[in-house]
Amino acid sequence: MNVQWASVSGLYYKYIKCIRDSPLIIKRFFLLFLPLALLCISGAIIIFQSESNMSRLELRSSEVAAINVGVNSIETIVQSIIIDLAYLATEDGLLNLINRENHELYTLPPADWPAFSQIKGIYDQIRWLDTNGQERARVDFNNGKPLGVPEHGLQGKGNRYYFTDTIKLSRGEFYLSPLDLNIEHGEIEQPVKPMLRIGTPVFDSKNNKQGIVLLNYLGGRMLQYFDQMMAGTHSQVWIINRDGYWLRGPSDDLEWGFMYQKPEASMGYHYPAAWDTISGTQKGQFEDAQGLWTFNTIYPLKNKLNPGRDSIIQPHLDAREYFWKVVLMLPDNEFQSLSSKAAINISVATTIILGVMFFVSWKLAHTWVRLKGANEEIHQINLRLEHTVLERTLELEEAKKKAEKSARTDELTGLNNLRSFDYFGNAIIEQSRRNEKTFTFIMLDIDFFKKINDTYGHHAGDLTLKAVSNCIIEGIRASDICARIGGEEFGILLPETTARFALIQAERLRQSFSDIVVPYDKSKITLTVSFGIAESCDDDTSIENVRMRADKALYLAKKQGRNRVVLLKS
Ligand code: GH3
Ligand code: MG
Ligand code: MG
Repeated sequence: MNVQWASVSGLYYKYIKCIRDSPLIIKRFFLLFLPLALLCISGAIIIFQSESNMSRLELRSSEVAAINVGVNSIETIVQSIIIDLAYLATEDGLLNLINRENHELYTLPPADWPAFSQIKGIYDQIRWLDTNGQERARVDFNNGKPLGVPEHGLQGKGNRYYFTDTIKLSRGEFYLSPLDLNIEHGEIEQPVKPMLRIGTPVFDSKNNKQGIVLLNYLGGRMLQYFDQMMAGTHSQVWIINRDGYWLRGPSDDLEWGFMYQKPEASMGYHYPAAWDTISGTQKGQFEDAQGLWTFNTIYPLKNKLNPGRDSIIQPHLDAREYFWKVVLMLPDNEFQSLSSKAAINISVATTIILGVMFFVSWKLAHTWVRLKGANEEIHQINLRLEHTVLERTLELEEAKKKAEKSARTDELTGLNNLRSFDYFGNAIIEQSRRNEKTFTFIMLDIDFFKKINDTYGHHAGDLTLKAVSNCIIEGIRASDICARIGGEEFGILLPETTARFALIQAERLRQSFSDIVVPYDKSKITLTVSFGIAESCDDDTSIENVRMRADKALYLAKKQGRNRVVLLKS
């Protein structure tokens, strides 16, 4: 029961202490926690900013790297097609056909064309068209089973743009059509079949132009390859022709807009400001409200594969006039999400650190307040101890003073006792001796004092003794020393004083004693005193001797009838 009560009261005490210390703990806690929290939050903001700047920079450079890969892949593909074409235009199979005596007659395409078509797998058609645009030899890819087209399947293409543009070219020049969709019988073939036509004129052995060789390249392959190369990027990957139409775009229905006469299916229509910048600049990167744009320009006619062989392969126009744009568009929300991911990570870390700081600061504040309380208690105890020690010391001092005083003085009268009388007396006599001056000793004794005691009692005797001693103190000079040297006997030492003066002094005292009236009970006590005087002389300056002579004089005074002064001549 007692134990329970003790633990309950302990808890109560703790609770009261906690309530009392709370404001202090809270104040100390905030003093610790706030600067730390401020430091931590500022650090988090700085880390967040540098982190998000860093990830933005990384993203920007990875976008640029990705776009360079895409551009190179397409330029390389087109270049390899041009090389294929250059080969077909100059190899023996076709030249033998052209150089025949009567080359107007139908014959099968060159024997190696089907194999070439199959191995390459990227050419929908390989054709030779004569100077009128009539197909003269043609191999169709035919879904991987290349087929030489018979005579009745050959068509006249004299009015098609690719023919009219290519036939004008000179030896070694080639033509690149826009990348568009294949048209069959006046309709866009479905599913769409992107097509790129590449042509170059052919010449017979007499150097007469005998039409053109034309490759129909399956553009879908190039686009697929491009898609594979760009698969790693987070952005939307677009290819745009020089008029701003999507060849690869945000969605299928926005692609090939120029084939369907849909100007609204173009980048220029949807993103006019961005397209202005992109179409006017070769490559670059910028941010706007829509997001991060990275773009570059593909110049398929640039001779990349054989940079030293420009004389053999000549584009029909300036390589810079034919281009597509590759655009990477990272929508703003995805761009921002990079920052928000960093923000979430840093916020979580900051919250954990703040939590730890909160806990540690609280514990520290608590401990600090407890220590402070303990220190204060120790200080109070010290103060009390010091106070007690001081009190005790003062008491001791007081007691010592009292003891010293009582050792020197007579308790009843407050006059010097015999011991201190001798002490002071000897010092004075020593000085008188040095100055060669005489000193005088007066002994006095109350007459018939015993009778006073007997008549009125001991207390009355004491009162009488006090009255006598007061009278002595009042009657002597400051330089004189007096003492109670016996029961009712007193001594007065008069330094540097002659017996003649002492006599006058003693007589005056005797008179004043006769005037003393001590009221006691209903009585009035009166008294007389006898005096004996002795003077020091040259051959006797010892206090004992002078006192003895004064005592002798006192004895004479008593003997001669009391209440008188007797001077003992030396
Ligand atoms: P005389 O004239 O010859 O000196 O006669 P006396 O009676 O004075 O001298 P006596 O020596 O016969 O007596 C002294 C008395 O003084 C004896 C003693 O009881 C008394 N006495 C001594 N000391 C004290 C004291 O301190 N108080 C009181 N009340 N009496 C004291
Ligand atoms: Mg006496
Ligand atoms: Mg006496």
